[in-house]
Amino acid sequence: MSEKTFPLSKTELEELSKTYPTPFYLYDEKAIRNNAREIIRAYGLFPGFKEHFAVKALPNPFILKILAAEGFGADCSSLPELLLAEMAGIKGGDIMFSSNNTPAAEYREARRLGAVINLDDFTHIEFMEKNAGIPELVSCRYNPGPLKSGNAIIGKPEEAKYGFTREQILAAYPLLRDKGAKRFALHTMVASNELSLDYHIETARMIFELAVEIKEKTGISMEFVNLGGGVGIPYRPEDKAVDYQGLAKGIETAYRSIIVPAGLAPLGVRIEWGRTVTGPHGWLVTRAIHAKNIYRNFIGLDACMADLMRPALYGAYHHITVPGKESETFTEIFDVTGSLCENNDKFAIRRTLPKIVPGDFVILHDAGAHGRAMGFNYNGKLRCGELLLRNNGSIVQIRRAETAEDYFSTLDRDALRDFNSSVR
Ligand SMILES: *Cc1c(COP(=O)(O)O)cnc(C)c1O
Repeated sequence: MSEKTFPLSKTELEELSKTYPTPFYLYDEKAIRNNAREIIRAYGLFPGFKEHFAVKALPNPFILKILAAEGFGADCSSLPELLLAEMAGIKGGDIMFSSNNTPAAEYREARRLGAVINLDDFTHIEFMEKNAGIPELVSCRYNPGPLKSGNAIIGKPEEAKYGFTREQILAAYPLLRDKGAKRFALHTMVASNELSLDYHIETARMIFELAVEIKEKTGISMEFVNLGGGVGIPYRPEDKAVDYQGLAKGIETAYRSIIVPAGLAPLGVRIEWGRTVTGPHGWLVTRAIHAKNIYRNFIGLDACMADLMRPALYGAYHHITVPGKESETFTEIFDVTGSLCENNDKFAIRRTLPKIVPGDFVILHDAGAHGRAMGFNYNGKLRCGELLLRNNGSIVQIRRAETAEDYFSTLDRDALRDFNSSVR
């Protein structure tokens, strides 16, 4: 069981919404920091441990700064994400660049920042050499293919577009060494939102065994392995949160039985968690604006799937609560919708909820990762802003809501004016 809480009372929300009208995202600094410390407490037992926060989960430099203060680095996979890490003061090897189908300019930018480049494909060795040169430290991403089962979000590894095959990765390190690389790392990420400890421990075991095999076959030692992200969070109240200590202990057992006897210790262990770090500590705060009763009963919110698309994209569950109605009996069955002109713009389908009337606040839980970040502008929908609840209880706006002007900002107004006057 995981309790679904929200840090503000209904009265506090009423007050806050006078300054910042709904919808908005709210993140809880204290909870994020505590969570970061728990992660470090559990994984700190590994040599050279580093968590590179997956920027795509919550690409906001205010959040990155808080995480950096707790000792986290960043995991980036695009040029703007690299710039966000830089904005937060995250430097050099504290940045992991785990991209795929990577454009040349992004390799150059990653090298400018001194990020650890994690190659996604064998052909990228030459591509990177030609476009950005070979850095001293290079990581490669392993895709185990049929050797590992997948999960719902990422799919089966053998169908996934990521990483090197086993044969390719064994050939990659000697080639990189010949081209001048001196330090090496090994990466994998095969699951997303996976709650099973065994699954992640098995992945670690697989990667440790591969590090041993690479050493035996090529003589090349890894400086560290990066176990990627993909650790799940309990979106449903009946789900159980991942026990970090239990997970780290399970991985340590694998380390002791594989890495230590092979003489590869101290091999560094790193991770790239995103969802687990901020997911449970962010909420999409909305208000109901309409109640519509046709063949089903609908509650329409002032947010839509442009603000949070996980439910529409993969049927994801986000828990819903109504401030002030927490203890009411759930008597209603609603589809909870947004205003986008797509019928899958629903935050919940046939969800049992308390009575909701227009004007009620409606909170979507566990939206702190892959939430606002996945937003888009289809249908002229403007994405909401982001607020941070500081440790001292104050609230800071860390991103304002979009305006129509933002939506038009990529249009050249002068060219449009000239064009309009020339079109007959
Ligand atoms: C998305 C992603 C992550 C983070 O995944 P979470 O499920 O949020 O932990 C880490 N590494 C890479 C390469 C990713 O693409």
